[in-house]
Amino acid sequence: MAKVAVITGAGQGIGEGIAHQLANDGFAIAVADINEATANQVAHDLNAEGYSAKAYVVDVADRNQVFNLAQSAVNDLGELAVWVNNAGIAFIDSFVDSDPDQFERLIDVNLKGTYWGIQAAAKQFLKQGDGGRIVNAASLAGVEASALQSAYSASKFGIRGLTQSAAKELAKDNITVNAYNPGVVRTPMRDAIDKKTAALKNISIDQQKAGVIDEIDRGREATPADVANVVSWLVSPKTEYITGQSIMVDGGMHYL
Ligand code: NAD
Repeated sequence: MAKVAVITGAGQGIGEGIAHQLANDGFAIAVADINEATANQVAHDLNAEGYSAKAYVVDVADRNQVFNLAQSAVNDLGELAVWVNNAGIAFIDSFVDSDPDQFERLIDVNLKGTYWGIQAAAKQFLKQGDGGRIVNAASLAGVEASALQSAYSASKFGIRGLTQSAAKELAKDNITVNAYNPGVVRTPMRDAIDKKTAALKNISIDQQKAGVIDEIDRGREATPADVANVVSWLVSPKTEYITGQSIMVDGGMHYL
């Protein structure tokens, strides 16, 4: 049986890109998403291309569902090798006016969902006894906070903290925990952010996008494949000595 990679939020955007890349790297893919239709579509596309994949409907905010995902993926597909906590949500709102329900949901999905994912993966790796790789979606907004994204930025700073803490605890068991910090990646999430930001600034979406590209030294937005290539490297034998790191994938927007 193939080694298994579980990818949350794999129904579209960056997660879908990671699913295709890791399938190409030889992993059987557990396509986990809260959206049943998109999860099924991505799993179907991968199987049609000759890869091995199965869709799972999971809300990562629910700890039981995340632990069930780990168990089901192992039962259905084989030994767990990689777990990518990619699922996340974002909203644009001013700090003072933000909706408490939206704030709580965002923390439940982004921060707690990543926490449950690291726990579920680590417990399975410890049971199997030969290590594993965990990769988390942080963000440029988790390195330098964005205006109008206080909850999102807080969740992503938190994910970098979880990444470091889990890395320190799990290193001796041959489990690495790292994160990627994308800048601007063209996905449905980014489309929604640009639309809302443009409306708040009273500018066109094209003006909003052009303003963002001006801040990227490489002169273009990222594609999901740009991020997926970094995840591929972070789960490869080449990076077995790297742990606790959050890797900027922003084309030169922020220099550490
Ligand atoms: P997206 O919204 O396009 O896709 C996210 C996927 O996650 C969707 O398929 C959605 O259904 C799924 N999802 C949402 N809530 C879920 C839940 N509770 N349980 C399971 N699945 C859930 O987003 P994206 O742009 O592909 O972003 C992926 C990750 O990368 C997110 O964590 C995001 O914060 C991060 N990120 C994105 C950008 C960017 O510019 N797109 C930048 C920095 C960080």
